[in-house]
Amino acid sequence: MPVNDSTLEGTLRRVFGFSGFRANQKEIILALMSGQDAFAVMPTGGGKSLCYQLPSVMMPGTCLVVSPLIALMKDQVDGARSNGIRAAYLNSSLDEAERRNVMQQLLSNSLDLLYIAPERFALDHFQEMLRRVQISLAVVDEAHCISEWGHDFRPDYLSLSALVTLLPEVPVAAFTATATHRVVQDIRNRLRLRTPYTVRASFDRPNLYYEVVFKDNADAQLVSLLRQNPGRSGIIYRTSRKSVNDTAAMLQSKGFRVLPYHAGLSDEDRRKNQDAFIRDEIDVIVATIAFGMGIDKPDIRFVIHADLPKSIENYYQETGRAGRDGEKAHCTLLFSQADIHGVRFYIDAIAGEQERARALASLSEISAFASSPVCRRKTLLGHFGETFPHENCGSCDICCQPRDTVDCSREAQMLLSAIVRTEERFGASHIVDIVTGSRNRKILELGHDRLKTWGVGKERSKKFWRQLIDELLVRRIVARSEGLYPVLVLLPKAVAILRKEETVHMSTLRESSVAAKTKGSPADIARPELFGLLRALRREIAEEMNIPPYVVFSDRSLGEMAQGMPQSDEELLAVSGVGEVKLRRYGRRFLDLIERYRNSSGGGEAFGASGPAADEG
Ligand code: ADP
Ligand code: ZN
Repeated sequence: MPVNDSTLEGTLRRVFGFSGFRANQKEIILALMSGQDAFAVMPTGGGKSLCYQLPSVMMPGTCLVVSPLIALMKDQVDGARSNGIRAAYLNSSLDEAERRNVMQQLLSNSLDLLYIAPERFALDHFQEMLRRVQISLAVVDEAHCISEWGHDFRPDYLSLSALVTLLPEVPVAAFTATATHRVVQDIRNRLRLRTPYTVRASFDRPNLYYEVVFKDNADAQLVSLLRQNPGRSGIIYRTSRKSVNDTAAMLQSKGFRVLPYHAGLSDEDRRKNQDAFIRDEIDVIVATIAFGMGIDKPDIRFVIHADLPKSIENYYQETGRAGRDGEKAHCTLLFSQADIHGVRFYIDAIAGEQERARALASLSEISAFASSPVCRRKTLLGHFGETFPHENCGSCDICCQPRDTVDCSREAQMLLSAIVRTEERFGASHIVDIVTGSRNRKILELGHDRLKTWGVGKERSKKFWRQLIDELLVRRIVARSEGLYPVLVLLPKAVAILRKEETVHMSTLRESSVAAKTKGSPADIARPELFGLLRALRREIAEEMNIPPYVVFSDRSLGEMAQGMPQSDEELLAVSGVGEVKLRRYGRRFLDLIERYRNSSGGGEAFGASGPAADEG
């Protein structure tokens, strides 16, 4: 590649270190650079920022970006600067001198990229000044904030409809990850876009693996999931503050590097914990849904929901925080029918009738998602009106983990008869205690150890029985009563099963596929020791420069370095995410580290003079 290659691809390579565009990026960039407005609905991680950052370095003047989250501006600017883009932001966090300095840069046309908060744009004197400087491109990020129908409406965004009259010559680009059609229409109207080039990207996130796991013992399951992901960044979502605190404490006591995050913590603690996560000082954050809005961390390798999310939208958005860098990431939902009851309880407390009805509808959708044997991806995308075109997505538990359908009619009869004999007055765990022959106090006090069904199923695990009860609930053979202490009651279908007129089948994971479970988990990294060393160096540099580690290099870049073990500037430049500026700033230190590794234990065989490492397989 010639150094002064000024084509789009050349600039992509030189500035960002990327070897190709992602879907839609090039088309959007071409439209904007030819002066057309653009409107793009793209999922998180789709690569929206590149669509304006690349033109910002190629077009004369400054690209103005309106963004609602002050917390993210600094990150965006750090990221752009790390690639050598002349970027700055203006918001309330700057002091007078800093602000004046940025204004000076803007007036002297020495900024490629300027991020501002919407309040700033609403100011008369700021608009006055915009007329006097050269603006190449105006970008409205998180454009759904302009719509009152959306979930993040920001009144300040309404002032942005003045953009097209204030800067009539300047193309306007609007970006959002919000999918609903009503909001999308509203954005277009309010921004008064002029026949924009419009993109509605697929909402599929192919690098995310979705799985739903029967929730048996959440604590033990979390511990085991964390053990499978040593040193990787992840989020565990829980519904209540108390469960966040308890889970974080439990995991800390087992030696995991985790911190809690919820609205009950002081502002300062929240910020500290979030920073520790962003800076890789801890691996995992245990959080309520209060967490996530203000973070852009692209290398989150797993998201675990230990409780049922409120809706499919919430689930999609929360899992969407994983794998923004395009590398593999794992989304696990721990679920049992008992969770539905927990959420019901909270929904019943909602005052507004409409709101309650909406919450109930969301609950039934998300529980259907979790309980039905349909490709998870298909269900998620279907929710956004998108049809997933393949039979097998290759990246969810339903598509990847072979199951056996087992006839459980006899076992179902045992459960049902235990329910009948105790007059439908007990909950699931007591019924399980009966069939498994427990001698706990409650059983003995009630004399339930004298029931005919006591102990009939003791050769099976409690987990099996709980799972079977879930199955009976899903098939509406039994139901759980309302109230604080729900009991299991029979529904009409149960009679046919007790009379052996109908059968019950349950699908269970094939034993051999327990190993396959880790399939689709975060990419197997070549040379994990070297990868670890590279990560340590990344953190060291990040600390020196006071920026998040992912701004230095992405996981992908480090993974490719560990795999290919580049020896020269040219080889390092071939690594994704290594552009000229990063090469100049950090290249030497990474090359030296790789060289030292190669010369020490076991590094030598990996990369002979015979061929490029990319051929290794
Ligand atoms: P969004 O704003 O749409 O959520 P980002 O702009 O943050 O997405 O991009 C997500 C990640 O993808 C970033 O780490 C970015 O560097 C990376 N990325 C964007 N475009 C490309 C590309 N063409 N090739 C490789 N990586 C890319
Ligand atoms: Zn699937």
